[in-house]
Amino acid sequence: MKHDMPQPGPERTQVNQTVPRLEIRNLSRAFGGQVVVDHVSLKVMPGQVTCLLGPSGCGKSTTLRMIAGVEMQDSGEIFVDGQLICDTVFRVPPERRHIGLMFQDFALFPHLSVGDNVAFGLKGPADRKRARVEELLDKVGLRRFIDEYPYQLSGGEQQRVALARALAPKPRIMLMDEPFSGLDNRLRDDIRDETLEVLKAEDAAVLLVTHEPEEAMRMADEIALMRNGKIVQQGAPYNVYNAPVDRQAVAFFSDIN
Ligand code: ADP
Ligand code: MG
Repeated sequence: MKHDMPQPGPERTQVNQTVPRLEIRNLSRAFGGQVVVDHVSLKVMPGQVTCLLGPSGCGKSTTLRMIAGVEMQDSGEIFVDGQLICDTVFRVPPERRHIGLMFQDFALFPHLSVGDNVAFGLKGPADRKRARVEELLDKVGLRRFIDEYPYQLSGGEQQRVALARALAPKPRIMLMDEPFSGLDNRLRDDIRDETLEVLKAEDAAVLLVTHEPEEAMRMADEIALMRNGKIVQQGAPYNVYNAPVDRQAVAFFSDIN
């Protein structure tokens, strides 16, 4: 068969790069008999942003929590770099999954300085930790705040510190659940762009949950459109936008201007 033919060197490298950083297969979860995540499968490549996009209540956060390992799936598998990390019998604990988390209500520790917040998940010698903290605070443009406390920062600045904190241990995967929805509109576009820049520079695979089509269009390399626990369409943002799968998808995207 054609796809089994030997490939020249450069393309073989490409083949290696097609192992997804994160893959979930047929993930399902019910609460009290109600199926809220229904055979969800998706892949996220290193350095790419996949948006799980859908209306409130469709099962996005539950999907993310299962990947993070804080919620158990009823069925399905999760793979990181091609290795099984979780099915219904085998389970790598959350803290060993190399996953960074950024949630809207995932607040900074108020009693720790900005620098100590960013250093929180880091291990090793103090000077190495300090170097990593400074590197990340530089990236988010907040190094001058290293000894300040969260209450001295604006909402947008706090969000950038939270991003730095999530990225500090060099997670292979970043899970972001509506991270910008608490911010006012004026700030949001800037923070989305900055966040994207930092994420790309760190080469994490990003799964970003949002109910806002505009945010997905702006940030995603790939959109997975979710409804009633199922992924109903998946593809590059402009393909999903220009060729909606059905009328509901048309309506869902129609509030973008
Ligand atoms: P989304 O993030 O897309 O808004 P969620 O994943 O938070 O959706 O929730 C999907 C559905 O599952 C909702 O109807 C929600 O009420 C329900 N649900 C989520 N977590 C629980 C839980 N721990 N117990 C019972 N129902 C839950
Ligand atoms: Mg949610």
